[in-house]
Amino acid sequence: MHDMAASGAGFAGVTYSAFSGWADRPTDFAPMPEGELTCDIAVVGGGYAGMAAALRLAEHGADVVLLESGFCGWGGSSRNAGYLSNALAGDPQLLNTLYARRLPGLVRYADEAARFTERLIGRLAIDCDYEPTGNVIAAVSPGQLRRTERNAAILRRAGADVEFVEGRGFGLPHTFLGGVFERAGGLLNPGKFALGLRAALLASDVRTYERTTVRAVEPHASGAVVHVTGGRVHAERVVLATNAYSRDLAIAPRRMVTPVWTSLVETEPIAPERLAATGWTRRTGIITPHTILENYRPTPHGTIMFGTRRLRTTRGPLGAREPDDAVVADLLRGFHERFPSLGDVAARRAWGGWIAMTSSLLPVAGEAAKNVFYAIGCNGHGLAQSPYLGTLLADRLAGDRTHEDLAAVWRPRPRFAPSVLSTPTLHAAWTLDRISDRVAHRVHRRRTLSSPNR
Ligand SMILES: Cc1cc2nc3c(=O)[nH]c(=O)nc-3n(C[C@H](O)[C@H](O)[C@H](O)COP(=O)(O)OP(=O)(O)OC[C@H]3O[C@@H](n4cnc5c(N)ncnc54)[C@H](O)[C@@H]3O)c2cc1C
Repeated sequence: MHDMAASGAGFAGVTYSAFSGWADRPTDFAPMPEGELTCDIAVVGGGYAGMAAALRLAEHGADVVLLESGFCGWGGSSRNAGYLSNALAGDPQLLNTLYARRLPGLVRYADEAARFTERLIGRLAIDCDYEPTGNVIAAVSPGQLRRTERNAAILRRAGADVEFVEGRGFGLPHTFLGGVFERAGGLLNPGKFALGLRAALLASDVRTYERTTVRAVEPHASGAVVHVTGGRVHAERVVLATNAYSRDLAIAPRRMVTPVWTSLVETEPIAPERLAATGWTRRTGIITPHTILENYRPTPHGTIMFGTRRLRTTRGPLGAREPDDAVVADLLRGFHERFPSLGDVAARRAWGGWIAMTSSLLPVAGEAAKNVFYAIGCNGHGLAQSPYLGTLLADRLAGDRTHEDLAAVWRPRPRFAPSVLSTPTLHAAWTLDRISDRVAHRVHRRRTLSSPNR
């Protein structure tokens, strides 16, 4: 049981956490800075992106300071569902329409991100229960199945390592009909991964400061001044790895990200034979192709973890937050629909976190102002992409040529279109998904009744 002490009991007796169910908060905080510090590069934010960037810069011999307002791993990096995926965010057909020419480069970037992060886990010997199972974008209706077949073809044409698979033969639960099998990546414990990166960081030459909030970054001709609680850091260059929290900093480009709150629920342990009886004989992670996805994955503790469906956003501050009852109730409804034979299985705990959505659906990296760079916004796909993006930006700042995968997401100007994500549009997307579920359910019932031997 992890770090649930400060949490309250919520819907159906589920224990809510304002952190994560994957890992405990560390107790060995890095110090807070005092007075004036000087360094080559200051990294703001200690998630996957910031930690990977700082580690790589230190490997290049740079004098690096990392500033994190909570502890390294406090954000989405310890909270996520643990899908190490080689996918981009967004429906492939939409991406193909919007970015036809760029798609092969973007696909290569996402694929390499999964392989890079796999190698990083091995290189740093991080024990994070990694299982290289791949993941499946799995359909729950014939309409979705046709869409996934078409999407698999689009992705393969763009060079992705995916294939279209049929559900039963592949070992998906019976209610999933088949879909796009992403061969790269798999499932891991993101809390262990984040804290493993943190341990590597604290053992490195990077000067790490925790419980240190950056209030402002002031660029000037030969560097930048970073203002923190209790002091200032003078750096030649600054990396913003602040993800969903970026809009709290005036230096971050306007409208770069929209913070979206996404939630996860974990069941009680389920007997292996009951899990196998659902048809889920392969331990792949499952993601549905709804407008707002659903995800279901087995965990090493014999439980199922599931999430998303209902998203929240806010114009206010992104403080500590617990899941809300309506979201947890809806996630449970989804779980019971997808796993009807597990209707008696209780949910034990729930938590959530902020992801950074961009209006382009693509991750972004670039220069916010002179000497101030950013690597942000993997749209809920940052487990593989954020460490990779942070590393690629670090290589560029250390003087290497711009890698083609960094070029694929680099923004020549820090200008961003307004986001369509708001409370009403997120609610509308969720409603559409529920209507399409209901229609699919009715069609399925009608077919079953008219041909009982099917
Ligand atoms: C519930 C959930 C499920 C998800 N599931 C998946 C998944 O299965 N697969 C996947 O690929 N991705 C998933 N994601 C997304 C993934 O977790 C993120 O894309 C990734 O963690 C982003 O890493 P990051 O380093 O950019 O940001 P974060 O981990 O959010 O780190 C940003 C850090 O910056 C710090 N910070 C911000 N502002 C300041 C400041 N002013 N001063 C100092 N520090 C600051 C924050 O405290 C935070 O620690 C999920 C996310 C959530 C929340």
